[in-house]
Amino acid sequence: MHCLGSVDERRVGRSLLGDPKLLGTTSIDGGRGMHDIIVMASLVACGVLCGWWLRGGLAQEGPPSDAPSSSRIDRALEHLRSIASGVADDLGEHHTRIAEIHNRLQEAARAGPEHLLRVVGELIECNEEMQRQLQSAETRLQYQAREIASRSEEAHTDPLTKLANRRAFDVALEEGWEQHQRSETPLSLLMLDVDHFKRFNDRFGHPAGDAVLKGVAQVLRQELGNDGLVCRYGGEEFAVVFPGRTARDVARAVERCRESIAAQTFSFEGAQFRITCSTGLAELKGEEDTDEMVSRADEALYQSKKAGRNCSHWHDGRRVRPVADAWTKRAIHTPEGWEEKLDLEKTDFSAGISTQAVFMADVSRRLAERHRNGTSLAVLLAKIDGYDTIVAQHGDSAGRAVTRAATLLFKATMRDMDHVAEFSEGTLSLLLPGCRLDGAVTVAERLREGANRCRLPQKRFPPERFTLTIAVAEAEEGEDASDLVARIEDAVASTSAHGSNCTCALEGKETRLIGIGDISLAAGDNA
Ligand code: GH3
Ligand code: MG
Ligand code: MG
Repeated sequence: MHCLGSVDERRVGRSLLGDPKLLGTTSIDGGRGMHDIIVMASLVACGVLCGWWLRGGLAQEGPPSDAPSSSRIDRALEHLRSIASGVADDLGEHHTRIAEIHNRLQEAARAGPEHLLRVVGELIECNEEMQRQLQSAETRLQYQAREIASRSEEAHTDPLTKLANRRAFDVALEEGWEQHQRSETPLSLLMLDVDHFKRFNDRFGHPAGDAVLKGVAQVLRQELGNDGLVCRYGGEEFAVVFPGRTARDVARAVERCRESIAAQTFSFEGAQFRITCSTGLAELKGEEDTDEMVSRADEALYQSKKAGRNCSHWHDGRRVRPVADAWTKRAIHTPEGWEEKLDLEKTDFSAGISTQAVFMADVSRRLAERHRNGTSLAVLLAKIDGYDTIVAQHGDSAGRAVTRAATLLFKATMRDMDHVAEFSEGTLSLLLPGCRLDGAVTVAERLREGANRCRLPQKRFPPERFTLTIAVAEAEEGEDASDLVARIEDAVASTSAHGSNCTCALEGKETRLIGIGDISLAAGDNA
């Protein structure tokens, strides 16, 4: 008896949806126990359904009724309704059977343990049956969820180029806009249009044109990687949405894309073709909506066409300028008047600047974020040239004064999301989320130029001037915070061993000198 009882208890325990406590409840207090079982079973069934809905099966997309695969989605919806109503029927039946068994339990308890065990056995069977039905419903639900997800992906993909389509573009732009409203995260947009494509089609045929469009999509994907969402905007026009990036951040990448397309040979049926394209860039400004931003990017694109095609322009909010301006020396500027704000005695810098430990923790957090969603990330270290000599000649207070001036310069230059820290005595660090190497180089040059322009109030704080030696790197795949920062520290140390007042960019372990002294080279000129 003891043996029989324990085997059944184990079975009961397993069967009552994984909660052995339920058997105890049933045996001791049949009425409440029955109620609990029914409620439990209903909850599990509802849980299965809700779980599926929450996992994003249906609610995930809700494609509009004009979606190309909408009829398949409608069919999937019909299946879902039938599964849900099947589960409801099964639950009703289960409820009735449980209620019947419940009525017989009191009687069975009086008739003796064997009777009681038989009735409990029926209860177990009943629950097992319910579990089977739920399992089968879940399998069918998962199938339908996959079906809908795949239809939804189709509805957001351009069939020719396999890029995100106009629908996905609208969603991405809207999301970027909302993020900008919430946290002033920058958002940039590139429009790219193939030059004289009508002529190309007329001359070589539409299929050759299609092959070129596929090729252009491939070049854009290759050049940009995870940087921005590349979309087919329509016809021979492409768009790239860059969430979290300023126009300056993406300017170099834009030029790289255009140049790569112009340099590419596209093949179709043994013939080879070259094409060019023109681009227009805009960054979301203040209160404008996405339509206004798109029309500014379009205006910039139109300017590129007018300027002879195969070139890039950007709309800076006031006027249209060549994209190259965004990253050459002319674009490197520090906010006007920051030196005047340099009241070293009144400004409490220690309150606003973090330590190396806090900085490293933030780098780690951003790296984890990068790992999850591919957002780029760059780090910059700036060493105040001759810091030790300044301290040796003029004392600690002079060292602090220069550090404070450099800190103020950093703060005047950085964006809200950037993070500056006093990394060590005489060295500042800057974390640039969402920034690639090119963008970080631009920031470094801006800082270096700001330092060159700065004059410290000499009477109280010698020396009069200071310069910075800066190294920048973009985080690489799988790299942790200490590896990344150690790489940059080594670069700063070896660069400042050979000179001062310069910026170097790290590509892996390779160091590339970008700017030196008062001369700021356009990034890449010396590549
Ligand atoms: P522009 O340099 O001013 O942009 O001149 P364009 O000829 O490229 O511009 P236009 O708007 O006059 O012509 C666009 C052409 O793109 C016409 C159309 O046949 C072609 N096109 C649009 N979509 C496709 C497509 O999917 N495949 C092919 N092969 N051609 C397409
Ligand atoms: Mg065109
Ligand atoms: Mg066009």
